[in-house]
Amino acid sequence: MTFAATVLTLYPEMFPGPLGASIAGRALREGRWACRTVQIRDFATDKHRSVDDTPAGGGAGMVLRPDVVAAALDSVAEPHPVIALTPRGRPLDQERVRELAAGGGVTLLCGRFEGFDQRLFEARAVEEVSIGDYILSGGEMGALVLLDACIRLLPGVMGAPSSGVEESFESGLLEYPHYTRPVTWEGRTIPEVLRSGDHARIAAWRHAQAETDTRLRRPDLWERHVGARVGSPSGARREKD
Ligand code: SAH
Repeated sequence: MTFAATVLTLYPEMFPGPLGASIAGRALREGRWACRTVQIRDFATDKHRSVDDTPAGGGAGMVLRPDVVAAALDSVAEPHPVIALTPRGRPLDQERVRELAAGGGVTLLCGRFEGFDQRLFEARAVEEVSIGDYILSGGEMGALVLLDACIRLLPGVMGAPSSGVEESFESGLLEYPHYTRPVTWEGRTIPEVLRSGDHARIAAWRHAQAETDTRLRRPDLWERHVGARVGSPSGARREKD
């Protein structure tokens, strides 16, 4: 099955862009995913082909018109989830990426200027997704990030099927640190346990490192990981959030 990516944008030339190279590029050529763009400006109705207007209530910048963006969206016949990239959206995580990759595709709305008219999201059942707590100049880079994360999970895309499973976040923890040759580099030596050949000890060390690093670097993830353990009071509290 081909994963169908449809991207609504004012800059269709940005796609597939970097997704035409490396793993995603090969998957594209193999037909594991397809990338179709829709130029939002083609759905403008006035003689200036305008897609934006001044913000209601005043203030700087311009806002994408809901009628124009909705017309572009309505032209897409795909049955897949519609996601708008916006810093106000739910932060993208590996769980949502996994769900999307398991579906048949996704339709992505890329904002520009100050963003979208909020009524669009209510009128068209659009999910709002953010790729992080910083502001991009447009949704296109966010769409590329989301697609890259999905594409590598599609069947047949990654070389070794196991490499996707141990990755950071898949288990709710950051991944353990990696090392490779040379054994000693600039006076620093690879941890002895990794050179021991003792697979049980290596697995235990990696698990302990993953836990320690997650606790120190990402207390937010650690809290959720601990809370998710069966029977813990903080797990019960999280369920209700
Ligand atoms: N005025 C908006 C930012 C607009 S940035 C605000 O302060 O919330 C212009 C466009 O870039 C947005 O419409 C969105 O599509 C995209 N964008 C910016 N930051 C993003 C982020 N963190 N995640 C996803 N999309 C983002």
